[in-house]
Amino acid sequence: MADFGCERDYDYDLFVIGAGSGGVRAARMAAGFGARVAVAEDRYMGGTCVNVGCVPKKLYVYASEFGKGFKDAQGFGWDSTAPRFDWATLRDNKKTEISRLNAIYRNLLSGVEAQVMDGRGRIIDAHTVAVGERHYTAGKILIATGGWPHIPEFPGSEHAVTSNEIFDLETFPRRLVIVGGGYIAAEFAGIFNGLGAQVTQLYRGPLFLRGFDTDIRAHAAREIAKTGVDLRFEVNVRSISPGANGLQIELTNGSTLEADTVLYATGRKANLAGLGLENVNVAMNEFGIINVDEQYCTSEPSIFALGDVIGGMELTPVALAEGMAFARRQFGDLKSQVDYDFIPTAVFCQPNIGTVGFTEDEARARFGHIRLFKSTFKPMKHTISGRDEQTFMKLIIDKASDRVVGVHMMGPDAGEIMQGIAIALRAGATKATFDSTIGIHPTAAEEFVTMREPWTED
Ligand code: FAD
Ligand code: NDP
Repeated sequence: MADFGCERDYDYDLFVIGAGSGGVRAARMAAGFGARVAVAEDRYMGGTCVNVGCVPKKLYVYASEFGKGFKDAQGFGWDSTAPRFDWATLRDNKKTEISRLNAIYRNLLSGVEAQVMDGRGRIIDAHTVAVGERHYTAGKILIATGGWPHIPEFPGSEHAVTSNEIFDLETFPRRLVIVGGGYIAAEFAGIFNGLGAQVTQLYRGPLFLRGFDTDIRAHAAREIAKTGVDLRFEVNVRSISPGANGLQIELTNGSTLEADTVLYATGRKANLAGLGLENVNVAMNEFGIINVDEQYCTSEPSIFALGDVIGGMELTPVALAEGMAFARRQFGDLKSQVDYDFIPTAVFCQPNIGTVGFTEDEARARFGHIRLFKSTFKPMKHTISGRDEQTFMKLIIDKASDRVVGVHMMGPDAGEIMQGIAIALRAGATKATFDSTIGIHPTAAEEFVTMREPWTED
């Protein structure tokens, strides 16, 4: 049997707390290297992504796109009179699919002989985890407990729901107020707007999607408002109270709103409640995030952490990459490190945002002299559908090296398109490489290799 530098009288070589994206990947790979692995999960196999994140979200995005699709079809000669949407069908079909995925995740772990324990893991000491009444020892403990939605305290905050509840609402919210201006708020505004709800999105600052390229943020504000979302900036919620006709929402600008549901999408915090961190020496930063070194080791040498609990880009592929790197290093004796440069990401708002690399502001600060290429156009499909929608694309070039250092898009399938662009950027593609690449016609993506005239250079 492999010796992983641990004393042999531990019950396991690795005890993983949390069977989400990062935990399952780490557990499977470690077991593949011959480690004796246990995994504790107290809610749902597959974690946030599978149960209340990426997967159900994308299914609901698909559902919501039909609404506009039926209207678009009329310009192409289809008679699509009054299609009707049934929330319960979508919700229950989603539940069936997620149950199928839960079983797959469980099988993935049992297939590599990792021991799955249904229950909350609580750290007792640097080598011991309790699940229920039982205690288990392990050479290494991995904290992969993910994040949890955070609702700020205010009068009536208990009437708000989060992304955890929104997928399974008993009745469809005809009037939905969404608070927040990040990924989740933008995505659910698109979903419920597309499904036929009257959606109001409130953001506390002057322009939402902070952290994204400014042109993309401004374009997104225009396009999302055009789809019918009542998008309001520089405003927040003061209080929520139940009324005769639904929830009464008092806003900071003195106005009021009425809604069936209020969705708070105001960020997530590391899910560390009841984990027993007080029993060990695991240091955290001021945002309640676990500090780790480049090997995901905490300040307690036998305890590791990865995924959303360590902050950074809170994305499933990042948690997966960290899980793999951790297992390779600790149990495969391989040098493996996640490269956090040029991680692509998409916001599945409608239309989609896809982005990789530096924003214009970041690129200017980092490289000094940059060239910008921008293009705004109506997607070919909508020349006949009549839909009022514009695609926006932007390339950012480091002038000294000619390297493309940032690519941003808002338009149909931007997420799909950006995956390929990310490979080019990681390979160090220059603007000359983009220019010498033959396009695929007729696509929107070909615009990325045909932009010739710089918008500006400095
Ligand atoms: P998680 O997947 O959250 O897994 C943690 C697991 O630990 C959970 O199953 C939890 O029940 C369990 N757990 C917690 N504490 C304990 C304990 N003490 N004992 C036992 N078990 C415990 N990312 C993308 O890349 N693309 C997307 O489209 C996307 N969409 C998203 C949409 C929404 C609505 C949300 C909320 C997130 C989305 N994300 C998306 C982010 C993505 O889901 C997370 O980044 C990813 O799931 C993080 O993986 P993780 O392993 O760190 O944690
Ligand atoms: P984000 O951090 O993306 O956005 C939170 C939003 O809430 C920000 O607009 C923030 O404003 C606002 N906010 C924070 N506190 C308050 C408050 N007290 N009152 C009013 N507004 C407030 O978090 P999300 O919850 O949207 O998503 C969490 C993470 O999950 C994302 O960051 C992302 O990593 C991941 N995710 C990824 C997806 C994808 O890959 N497609 C989809 C969904 C989630 P401000 O900007 O001013 O701070």
